[in-house]
Amino acid sequence: MLEHSDFQFHFNPNKCEECGGKCCTGESGYIFVSPKEIAVIAKFLELDFDAFCQNYVKKVGYRYSLLDIAKGNGIYSCVFFKDGICQIYPKRPKQCVSFPFWDYYKEHFEELEKECIGVVKK
Ligand code: SF4
Ligand code: SF4
Repeated sequence: MLEHSDFQFHFNPNKCEECGGKCCTGESGYIFVSPKEIAVIAKFLELDFDAFCQNYVKKVGYRYSLLDIAKGNGIYSCVFFKDGICQIYPKRPKQCVSFPFWDYYKEHFEELEKECIGVVKK
């Protein structure tokens, strides 16, 4: 179990396999990446920075997000979520590493509970 003192829930990462990566799919959303993270992921995939951006990144205002792909029925999936696995797991962005300990969920545990089977209220 993982926990942070300022969050009112625990997180059991062992549940991720059973879940199959629900946090990498769902409604369209943003998977924010910094230019530094883009460079790290591009290097991991042995791709040139510009080629990586052209194929996997969209601009959102002054920020950048990994693309999500429409799967039908209003379901989207992160461009790097394939066969139930994150293809860039060792270098996934901070937004993914820090899930589900996002400030938003301090006040919206009920929403998180519906999405993530790994969380348990303290
Ligand atoms: S939704 Fe929760 S349990 Fe499912 S893969 Fe994501 S973190 Fe793991
Ligand atoms: S980068 Fe990996 S962990 Fe993050 S949403 Fe995409 S597939 Fe999921």
